[in-house]
Amino acid sequence: MQKSPTKVVAGNWKMHGSLEMLAEYVSVLARALSSQRSEATDRAMVVLFPPIGYLVPLSEQLRVCGLQDQIVIGAQDLHPESQGAFTGDMSGAMLRDLGARWVLIGHSERRQYHAEDDQLVARKAAAALAAELTPVICVGETAEQRDSGDAERVVERQIQAVAQALGAEGLQQCLIAYEPVWAIGTGRTATAATAQSMHAAIRAQLAGLTGETDNRIPVLYGGSVKAANAAELFAQRDIGGGLVGGASLDPQEFAAIIAAGDGALSADVTTR
Ligand code: PEP
Repeated sequence: MQKSPTKVVAGNWKMHGSLEMLAEYVSVLARALSSQRSEATDRAMVVLFPPIGYLVPLSEQLRVCGLQDQIVIGAQDLHPESQGAFTGDMSGAMLRDLGARWVLIGHSERRQYHAEDDQLVARKAAAALAAELTPVICVGETAEQRDSGDAERVVERQIQAVAQALGAEGLQQCLIAYEPVWAIGTGRTATAATAQSMHAAIRAQLAGLTGETDNRIPVLYGGSVKAANAAELFAQRDIGGGLVGGASLDPQEFAAIIAAGDGALSADVTTR
């Protein structure tokens, strides 16, 4: 286990990329980080979630470019069972074999296109912990739920389902990513104040569930994070970093978001 007081900047490539892109991406990112990070005292923890097929090539390329100790890799999903007749799926242990150390769980695109409900998300979170992967539990309300005043209730219910399955101790090994569905891939970022207000509510819920008040469970914001808004978002008291989709595909842009996280102290992050 590694523990560091830092922001987390995570890039979710979704179903984007290619072998050719990956090689170029990592070398551009390595150059950008080496020129900007030499002064940074408190570095953001950086995580990349490529498509499953690129886990191994990505870790190889990170090694080639000397970034293997600076960037952790993770998977975008896992199956809740450890093995079986589940064609096309991957277990947590298999992902770990491929070098993944973190895993996204319950991303809104999985909830929307693969009908993942709170119970399945909770089972996947338990499977991730069993495989010694650090789960990033994605939660967030739709535009309709926000407009009808239900945003906090929806997010609370999503977290509660995971808490029930994992218990306080399990929950403390997770990260939460608050990603309002209306802000994902839309270019419409929540204002820093809107994001902070939801993050404060999540923090209060987590404190109630685990009894802790020291922000040990990082709560990331996701939804059209880019270089232009990252610093303001990361400056909010209860925002522990960012889960970045589209903007993480551009290594220069992603490096600038990482720079916004460097030096911006936050909660303790415990990783496996
Ligand atoms: C995401 O995919 O988790 C995400 C937040 O996407 P984007 O940054 O493109 O809105």
